[in-house]
Order: sequence, then structure tokens, then C-alpha cells
Amino acid sequence: MPELPEVETTVRGLEPVLNGRKIARVEVRRADLRRAFPEDLGQRLTGALVTKLWRRAKYGLIDTDRGDTLVFHLGMSGRWRIDPEVILAHDHLVLTTDEGRVLSLNDPRRFGSVDLVRTDAVGSFEPLAALGPEPMDLDVSELKRRLAGRQAPIKQLLLDQSVVAGLGNIYVCEALHRAGIHPKRAGASISTDRLKRLVPAIHEVIGEAIAAGGSTLRDFASPNGDLGYFSKSFAVYDREGSACACGGKVKRFTQGGRSTFYCPRCQR
Ligand SMILES: [Zn+2]
Repeated sequence: MPELPEVETTVRGLEPVLNGRKIARVEVRRADLRRAFPEDLGQRLTGALVTKLWRRAKYGLIDTDRGDTLVFHLGMSGRWRIDPEVILAHDHLVLTTDEGRVLSLNDPRRFGSVDLVRTDAVGSFEPLAALGPEPMDLDVSELKRRLAGRQAPIKQLLLDQSVVAGLGNIYVCEALHRAGIHPKRAGASISTDRLKRLVPAIHEVIGEAIAAGGSTLRDFASPNGDLGYFSKSFAVYDREGSACACGGKVKRFTQGGRSTFYCPRCQR
């Protein structure tokens, strides 16, 4: 499943192909993904000039000179393909630029989404409206304020998109491990000193993953590059039973329906 760093990598990969280009052709190859494609998608995008590509949480955003923003989410299995040699069954949306470059949105499981909203109203677009700050913009005082009075486990709070936006299961597990904080600890009970370890840990795990994605981006310079996923190595995530660097052993339990990985020796 693509997390924030994959979405960031995707946006950076699309940028050189799309930014400053006109969209010459739009092919919508089925009616819906998770929800219906906008009915007027082709009409509003065809001939539009792309003025900016950006990301908010796990959403990619493409602004045009017509005051529209295409908002995409990759769901469970979505990825953009650049200049594919053949269009595949699961390429549901195909854009062709005025330079003849082709971008296809491939999503076999169709949990992704494509919406078109007015650029000046992006902030009030429902999926984006209630989001907390970007993980890279989070600071200690902001997090402290957001955790105040919250008795829920820190793991759950960090996954709450209104506390911090776009932080997924993998990076929450990794950041808590790096900061030495037990995933079940109540949010409000974490001292400022420990938040001063947690915030940089969040910045580091996300920053390192984006850097890793950036290194895979070089491969996309070649035709047929598929944007979206890259291999990563983790200290605790998906490593149940493995040794932690502290000499402890990584354990797993279920929290809010999702697997939490942690080290009982160095996370308190
Ligand atoms: Zn440990």
C-alpha cells in the first residue's frame, strides 16, 4: 500500500513530464475507481495547462490554468506509469501531453480515487478539510497541543489524520521505536522531553523514505517507469521475532485492527 513517501515520489516523478505542459488528450477507460470519475473530467482537462504538482497527506494534486485541481489517491494498489509501451487492462485513466508523453493511472484493486475540484476550494474539499499538519511541518509545541488531554494510545493518535496528516502504520511504528516510546502509552502522558525525541524521529523516518524513493526515481528516466512503490528496510515493522539493535526481540500485537510492531525492551 502506498504511503506518504511513495505519493511524494510519484508527484516528483510526474512533475518533469507534466508541469508546464498542456494535456492534449484524456482517456477515461472505466466509469469509476473507489468512486465515479468526474463526468466532465475529459472536458475540463483537455487543453488545460498544468501549472503545479503537489502533495497533501497521501493525496497527489495537479493544478491547471483553468482553476481546476485534479486530486488523486493511490488507494491500495494504484500507480502512475510513464510512457507505457502498451496500455494495460488496469490503466483506467490515460493522459497524453502536448509533447506526446503518456501517463496512465493503473489500479488493479480500484481503491484509489480521482476528483476534480476548484483550486481555490481545495482546502475545503472534504477528504482534505480536516487534516492535521504535514509530518514534516510538525513541531514539538504543535504536537504537544494536539495530544493534550488525549488518553488514547499514542500509536492510534499518530494514525489519526486530524492529529497529523498522512502518517501510515509503517512510519508510526518506526518513529515510536526510534523515539523509545511504547505504542500503548497514552498521548497526554508523554513528556515534552520525549516529544523532543518523537518529532525528529517522525521527520527522520519520513525524510529517509522520501530520499529512498528519490533514489529509485532515477530509474523512471527510462521509458515504462512505474511510479509508486519502492523497497525499504525497517527496524521493527514486519519484523516480529527479529532482534532489535538493543538486544530485545521485536513483538507484534493488534491495535485498532492493525498490526503494531515494537520492542518491549527499549520502548517504554
Ligand atoms: Zn529494542
